[in-house]
Amino acid sequence: MKLPKPAFPQRAATPLLFALVILLVAYAGGSPQRAYGGTDRTFDLGVTPQGRPIEVVQFGDGPRKLVVVGDTHGGPEANTYRLTNELIAHMRANPDQVPPSVRLFFIPSLNPDGLALGSRFDAAGVDLNRNMNTNLDACPENDWRVSVQGARGIVSETGGPYADSQVEARLIRAFLLDAAGAIFIHSNAGLVFPAACEHAPSIALAETYAAAAGYTYSRLWPNYAITGGMHDWAGSLGLASITPELLTGDQSEFPQNLAGLRAVLADAERLLPLPEDGQVAGQTVPAPIFRYWRALGGDERFGPPLEPARTTPTGVSQTFRKARIALRHDQRDTIYYVQPEPIGLLAARDLAYGGAEALAPVPSAPVGQFFPETGHTLQAAFLDFWQRGGGAAVFGLPLAEEFAATTADGQRRVVQYCERAVLAYYAEDGGVRLEPLGERELALDALRAPVAPQSVR
Ligand SMILES: [Zn+2]
Repeated sequence: MKLPKPAFPQRAATPLLFALVILLVAYAGGSPQRAYGGTDRTFDLGVTPQGRPIEVVQFGDGPRKLVVVGDTHGGPEANTYRLTNELIAHMRANPDQVPPSVRLFFIPSLNPDGLALGSRFDAAGVDLNRNMNTNLDACPENDWRVSVQGARGIVSETGGPYADSQVEARLIRAFLLDAAGAIFIHSNAGLVFPAACEHAPSIALAETYAAAAGYTYSRLWPNYAITGGMHDWAGSLGLASITPELLTGDQSEFPQNLAGLRAVLADAERLLPLPEDGQVAGQTVPAPIFRYWRALGGDERFGPPLEPARTTPTGVSQTFRKARIALRHDQRDTIYYVQPEPIGLLAARDLAYGGAEALAPVPSAPVGQFFPETGHTLQAAFLDFWQRGGGAAVFGLPLAEEFAATTADGQRRVVQYCERAVLAYYAEDGGVRLEPLGERELALDALRAPVAPQSVR
């Protein structure tokens, strides 16, 4: 989707509508095609900041999604990369070992930049296993923080600028939303531990894997506190989630881990519980949408669900106060499986744009990011909020420059229209919040609904 920047004044209505038409056409057009080839298929989860693909190999197509993640810690744990590739080769030779109830994925390296650079960290120097938003569970001791403990307990400022800040962390976050289990392989302590905050499915998975592999089971990582860890993040969303640590730093320990994995596959019905729907504000929220809603900010970010989930031609959609979040079957096992719908486009189309007042700049450093696809810029507080909250995948690209408008609460505020959300700047506390677009869409739906014929006496 490469569009020239419209050669019109950016505050005029014409280029906005022009951009909307182009974007709507683009949305209606292509969705990535899935290519199956034989008993397994290989695809890229995404691309790292240095341009390296994160490869995924899939076996089977059952409902219980199990993801084996190798090499989160790059070069120093390259033996986990070799192990994962050996497990893939084994399953290619023995595809019948994946039971029909399981959809098994291997990610040989979640950190190919670190692997290439010989570093434990990603290309930006962040420890990907300390970067996840682990603040969702009931255990404050594992909450994300900048200052972390790592190999041999050494403290470093490598948790990242904020939780879920790194590309690789966001990719695995999106990919695991519908998973039943996750196995994050590290080295080299020779033990297996579950998500730390009392989670029975994770404990059962760790016990089974450890016993079959011949590693020591440990209820907690004994050496220091892990903050922002992937196993804790996944466990907090309900996945059975474990970290096996290989015993050595240079061997793949293939037979041990094949035994561990096969023991899990043999007992998949018990060890890999299907994701559970959520109950929020009296509404049932389908499991992957519930996990998305929680993982990306919950009630504070998106508001509560306002209606039951609806079946759509492509999947399921549910309207929350500030977003309409959709699950698309044709995007299953991609990072776009669950995503807010582009209702910002609809709101912008209805906007009385010519009446918008002159721009009231948002106070902060005038640093911005220009998006050539739409010809608009995000800056200051809007850019910061947009980046931290998930970027284009969550909010979409900007459809206009920021401008002053009357927001749903009746106040004059500076707003920024994006494809999937409208952002409003609250000068009183310097915060940015989403406008209640979901509520607005439901109100419009009611207006559009056919009226029952009146009977006249
Ligand atoms: Zn590690």
